[in-house]
Amino acid sequence: MAAITRFSKPLALSHIRRCLCSSSAAAAVSDESNPHVTSPFGNYKITRRDPSERNVQWVFLGSPGVGKGTYASRLSNLLGVPHIATGDLVREELASSGPLSKQLTEIVNQGKLVSDEIIISLLAERLEAGEAKGQSGFILDGFPRTINQAEILEGVTDIDLVVNLRLPESVLIEKCLGRRICSQCGKNFNVASINVKGQNGNPGISMAPLLPPSHCMSKLVTRSDDTEKVVKERLRIYNEKSQPLEDYYLNKGKLMEFDLPGGIPESWPKLLEALNLDDFEERQSAAA
Ligand SMILES: [Zn+2]
Repeated sequence: MAAITRFSKPLALSHIRRCLCSSSAAAAVSDESNPHVTSPFGNYKITRRDPSERNVQWVFLGSPGVGKGTYASRLSNLLGVPHIATGDLVREELASSGPLSKQLTEIVNQGKLVSDEIIISLLAERLEAGEAKGQSGFILDGFPRTINQAEILEGVTDIDLVVNLRLPESVLIEKCLGRRICSQCGKNFNVASINVKGQNGNPGISMAPLLPPSHCMSKLVTRSDDTEKVVKERLRIYNEKSQPLEDYYLNKGKLMEFDLPGGIPESWPKLLEALNLDDFEERQSAAA
């Protein structure tokens, strides 16, 4: 494990913005004569704004199974910024008749990986479209995955904060192995009841199972790739790829490690606290 950064105490959102963006903010100011930055992969025009004048621009990282999409989605609702999952962008483009859909269909049909260039084009297009609709800020989920992607992203927009959600590997494995799908209604459940005792200064982790209603109980199936061997391999590949990316953002002073203390009920308030958003709604209504 690499060095761990953690804000010693919660920082005000504005403070996070100031601290984490001082370098990019300076770049934005010096770039004032030409605020439109053109992506090398298209004629996308995304305005670089001073962080104090726009909403958050965050990235969420986390192992498969950690629940990254759930937390990113909840935060995006709270902050009123779009939750942009690159997996969704690819699926949407495939389903559309957009300029890249034909190319994407070929790539996917051949079982190839979608290139960084295509992903960043879709992302830049999404950001530009959002900006045109008056959207400000974003929470990215599923991108960047590599340093190369992170560097390309830097060329397109500024990232203020990278939140890395973490759970011990044993918990991730237990959680993935507990996944069940109802073969009739298609809903997802989880039968794992996780209760890790705190030790060696590490806090305990408890996660209640997400049990199905009785009419689904007898119809539960396990995904064929949710075996211990496959889950471990998925985590190994993820860690191998994400470690350099985490180090990249750590060196830029943008990484916030967050060890999830349990499921959503335990983790959500703590995450808000770590981001100093725990009284965000009250502050919003007070300011209104
Ligand atoms: Zn069901």
